[in-house]
Amino acid sequence: MTQRALPLRGAHNPSSTRQGTTPGSFANRADVGGPLMFSSPDTPGMPQPSDKTAWDFMPAGWRQEGGRWVAPDGFTPATQLEQARLGVVTPEMKRVAEREGHLTPEQLRDEVAAGRLIIPANRVHLGYQLDAMAIGRATKTKINANLGASPVSSSTDEEVEKMRWSVRWGADTVMDLSTGGDLDACRDAIIRASSVPIGTVPIYSMIIGRKIEDLTEKVIMESLLAQARQGVDYFTIHAGVLREHLPFVQKRLIGIVSRGGSLLAKWMLVHKQQNPMYTHFDEICDIMREYDVSFSLGDGLRPGGLSDATDEAQLAELDALGELTEKAWKKGVQVMVEGPGHVPFDQIEYNMKVQRSVCHGAPFYVLGPLVTDVFPGYDHITSCIGATSAAYHGAAMLCYVTPKEHVGLPKKDDVKQGCIAYKIAAHAADVALGIPGARDWDDDLTKARAALNWEKHFELAFDPDVARAFHDEDLDVDTDFCAMCGHDWCSVRISKEIVEFASGKAEGFERAGVIKSPALTAEQREILEKRGVLPPEEIHRLASKTESAIGVHKGEKASCHSDYVDPEQAQHIQEKKLVQIRARAEAE
Ligand code: SF4
Repeated sequence: MTQRALPLRGAHNPSSTRQGTTPGSFANRADVGGPLMFSSPDTPGMPQPSDKTAWDFMPAGWRQEGGRWVAPDGFTPATQLEQARLGVVTPEMKRVAEREGHLTPEQLRDEVAAGRLIIPANRVHLGYQLDAMAIGRATKTKINANLGASPVSSSTDEEVEKMRWSVRWGADTVMDLSTGGDLDACRDAIIRASSVPIGTVPIYSMIIGRKIEDLTEKVIMESLLAQARQGVDYFTIHAGVLREHLPFVQKRLIGIVSRGGSLLAKWMLVHKQQNPMYTHFDEICDIMREYDVSFSLGDGLRPGGLSDATDEAQLAELDALGELTEKAWKKGVQVMVEGPGHVPFDQIEYNMKVQRSVCHGAPFYVLGPLVTDVFPGYDHITSCIGATSAAYHGAAMLCYVTPKEHVGLPKKDDVKQGCIAYKIAAHAADVALGIPGARDWDDDLTKARAALNWEKHFELAFDPDVARAFHDEDLDVDTDFCAMCGHDWCSVRISKEIVEFASGKAEGFERAGVIKSPALTAEQREILEKRGVLPPEEIHRLASKTESAIGVHKGEKASCHSDYVDPEQAQHIQEKKLVQIRARAEAE
C-alpha cells in the first residue's frame, strides 16, 4: 500500500470521544490566547495576522502598574471589554463558558480583552431574558437571522413570531431590519421577547418620515440613544464609507448594494461633506459604551456581484473599518466588523485574512458570501457554500441568506430554510477547524445510522420531522433498510452482517424485527404536501394579481416605476396598492 503523507497540521480530533477513523482536523493547532485561534493553514501569499490587539489601543488615562492595567480614579467599567481589561470575569463570561464547553471563563475574559471576542449584551436587554453568548473565532461559529417588517409587508406580531421561529431553527442572534410599520413598537416587542442578542441598523429608523438629505447630527444621536435605551445589543454603523471612496464605485457593475451605504453616499454627495457617522464616531461610541452596545461596523461598500468583489472600494472601506476598530477600542466599546457579500470561492480566504490583519483580529461577521450570482431563488445554497469557507478561514458569525434574497421579503419557511443552510455551514466549519467536541453529534448520528436505528437517527437529526416524514413517505416501517436501495442492496445492512466490520455501533440497540413506524404527525404530513416550491402556475397567478392592480401590461414597466412617477407617487402605490394586494391574497 502506498504510504501517504497526510497534511497533519494540528491533527487534533474534533470529537471529544476520539472516535472515528480519520486523523482529525487538518487545520492549525488551536492557539487560544494567540492570534491563530481555530484557524485554517494559510495558502501562500495570505496576509498575516496583525501583531496588535485591543491591548494596543487603550483609552486615554489608563496606565500599567505591576503588569496590570489600571483605570483612572473614579472610573466605572460599563462594557464587557472594560471589565475584561480590569481582569474581571463577568456573569456573562461565566454563562458563555457553560455554553461553549471548550473554553474557561478566564480564557473568554482574555479573548474579550484582546478584542478578538465580543459578548453583545446591552444591560437593558440583560434585564429581560437575554442568554449571554459570544462571537469570536475562539468560540463556535454563530449565525444571524435577519427579519423585520417592510413598508409593504408584515406586522409586529408577525416579526416577533419570526424571531421566535428563527431562534427555534438555530439563530444565535437576530437583526431587526424593519423599514415599515411601527418601528419602535416592533423593536421593543422583539427585544423583550428575545433570548438572543438583537442587532439593528439604526439609520433605517433615522430616515422614517424624512429624506436622507435631512439627516442631522441631532437626529443620529437621538435615534442611537433611543435604541440603546430600548436594549439593542449591537448596531450596524456604516461609518467606514468615506467620501473619497465614492469614485471607486463608478467602475462597478452594480454600485452600492448596502441600504445604509447607499443612503450615506447620497447624503455625502448632496452635502459635499464627509460621512456624518465617521465625523461623529467618538460621540456615537460614548452612547454605545454607556449601555454596552457593540459595534457591527457596517460594510456599506460590500460587493453586490462577483465582478465587484475585492475591488478598490471594498478594500478602501476595510482600511477605514480597521481605523474605526482602533478608535472604538480606545473608547472601551466592543467591536465586530461586517464583510462581503458576493465573492468568488477562490477569493474568500484572502477576504477573511485581510480583515484579520487590518482589524487586528476583531470578529468578522459576513453576509454569505454568495459564490455565484445566477441562482436567485436558491441563494441560501449559493451563499452557505461561501459561508462554510468563510468560517473555516476566519469569519466568526455568518449572516444567513434565505431563498428570497434579492427577490422578496422572506416568509416563515424561507427563514427556516436560511437558518438550516447556515447551521450546516457553521457546523461544518467548526468540525473542520477542530473545535473540541464539535464532531460528537456527527459521530453519534453515524453510530445510529450504522445500527439502522431509525428512532435514534431521527432524534439526533437537526430537523427530525423532515427526516422522519421523508423516510415514511416511501416506507412507513422501521426495518433494516430504507426505500433508497431496498433490502438486497442495503450496504449498511450487509455491512452489519459482515461482523468483522463491526458495523452497527449504537449502544444497546439490537433490531428485533420490523417495527411499524409511528403515523406521521400533522406537521410531517404538511411537510410532505408542501415539499418543494410553489408550482409555476401559482407563482404566475400571484404575479398577475400585482400586475393588474398597479396597471402594467406585458413587456411594460409598472406604473410605480421611477421612469414614470416621482418618489411620492411611487410611495403611494407601494403603500396603498401593494398592501391591498397582499390583504386580498391573504383573504383568498
Ligand atoms: S437502503 Fe441504502 S440508503 Fe437506506 S439505509 Fe440502506 S444503504 Fe442506506
